[in-house]
Amino acid sequence: MEKEKKASEALWAQIMDALRTYGQADGYAIDFISGLRLVEDTGTRLIIEYPEGLMLAWLELNYSEYIENAAAHVLKTPRTLEFVEAGATKQQESPAPAPCPAAMVKPETVQASPRRNRISRCIRVQSNLNADYTFDNYVVGSSNHFAYAAAQALVNSEVRLYNPLFVYGNSGLGKTHLLHAIGNALRSRRDNVQVLYVTSEQFTNAYIEAIRKRGDALEVFRRKYRKVDVLLIDDVQFMARADKTQEEFFHTFNALFESGKQIVLSADCPANQITNMDDRLKTRFSQGMTVELTAPCYEMRMAILRQKMLKWKQNLLSEEVIQFLARNITQSVRALEGALIRTSTIASFSNSCPSIAFLRENLADLMNKRSSTGISIADIQKSVASEFGIRVDDINGRRRTAAIAHPRQIAMYLARQHTACSLQDIGAAFGGRDHGTVLHAMRTIEEKLHSDPSLRDILERVSEALAC
Ligand code: ADP
Ligand code: MG
Repeated sequence: MEKEKKASEALWAQIMDALRTYGQADGYAIDFISGLRLVEDTGTRLIIEYPEGLMLAWLELNYSEYIENAAAHVLKTPRTLEFVEAGATKQQESPAPAPCPAAMVKPETVQASPRRNRISRCIRVQSNLNADYTFDNYVVGSSNHFAYAAAQALVNSEVRLYNPLFVYGNSGLGKTHLLHAIGNALRSRRDNVQVLYVTSEQFTNAYIEAIRKRGDALEVFRRKYRKVDVLLIDDVQFMARADKTQEEFFHTFNALFESGKQIVLSADCPANQITNMDDRLKTRFSQGMTVELTAPCYEMRMAILRQKMLKWKQNLLSEEVIQFLARNITQSVRALEGALIRTSTIASFSNSCPSIAFLRENLADLMNKRSSTGISIADIQKSVASEFGIRVDDINGRRRTAAIAHPRQIAMYLARQHTACSLQDIGAAFGGRDHGTVLHAMRTIEEKLHSDPSLRDILERVSEALAC
């Protein structure tokens, strides 16, 4: 008994060291945590005793993530935490409680009965949420208002409206931001809600690691993912090809779904278009609500720029420069943000607003040159048809011979590159095809670009013709 107590004390000292050295906890948090006592490490759980009279919810809310991180650092494998109120165990004296602010002491009137006080149990997962991504700083416009409304409804509704919520769109259009905003809003509105954000890559890695470790690591992994109230999984298309992971995720999904937990997913395309994804998963992904994020329109780009300038206290840029950025950087919010950061840096160095000519040169890689000159899908179709010696009607027609299908795919690819049109809009402009066909065309061309150098020449020739 004495030996075990010593081992727990030594482990707790190591955890405290890790917290001081690597943790993000401030001095006050460290003081407070040092007043807790490790009762036992079961191999999967740390049983921690807290001073009598302390509100467990307060403890969980403020400190469990710090403790989990520090413990994982020392023990190399994650532990869930189980909190026990002092006096509930028949252990030796607990240390004197650390000073606590009035807010975290249980009011006299809500003193729980001794029985209720005996073991207060909680298994809490680290949420991985980024506090910077909120609804407050998410600009809403025509390209995302539907997705925003669906996310808001999910957060505000007491009942499960749709499950899962599936958000898709190209890179840099705000999927990750929206997922975090949902998680942050839920955590701030509902007490004790357990939210977990992971990328599908993190899920895959954690699963592989759990299998590699053997023992009860897989059980711990499963418990972690099935315990949460809300699971946010980003970029599910990257789970493709990893068959075993898909199988595991299928079971995780079902377990959560059946117990009424909320699932939110993001991907770069609609669920049924994800390549190498198990059909059962695609069906599950599509059974709730699917919303698309498209490239922002001009007004929205202006609103995003204004919002970011306000946040970064940037006041050196002229209205002309802001409009120039909004007109020319159209593909994604990420590119727009990148352009604003670069422009702001240049402005700060020279303490003046850069000229348009200077920006044209320095932002060339981010600029969507064609869209600022008003190139349309029809222009692209014409140029591609002329390059291949076929008719525009062929491009928009039904024939699927290689001589027609290849130029058609090139034209779709270029339309996506050089206009701000959504997959649907492009499909519609190519003889009423669906967005899946456009997506397939883009991927086919991207793949061919690796193996066929002459394709790059063709794309450059057509792009140059368009620029004239
Ligand atoms: P995705 O996950 O779709 O690739 P992100 O969510 O990472 O895109 O967004 C890229 C950047 O653009 C982030 O910094 C994000 O905060 C910002 N962003 C995207 N959409 C919006 C929006 N509607 N309002 C404000 N910022 C946005
Ligand atoms: Mg993302």
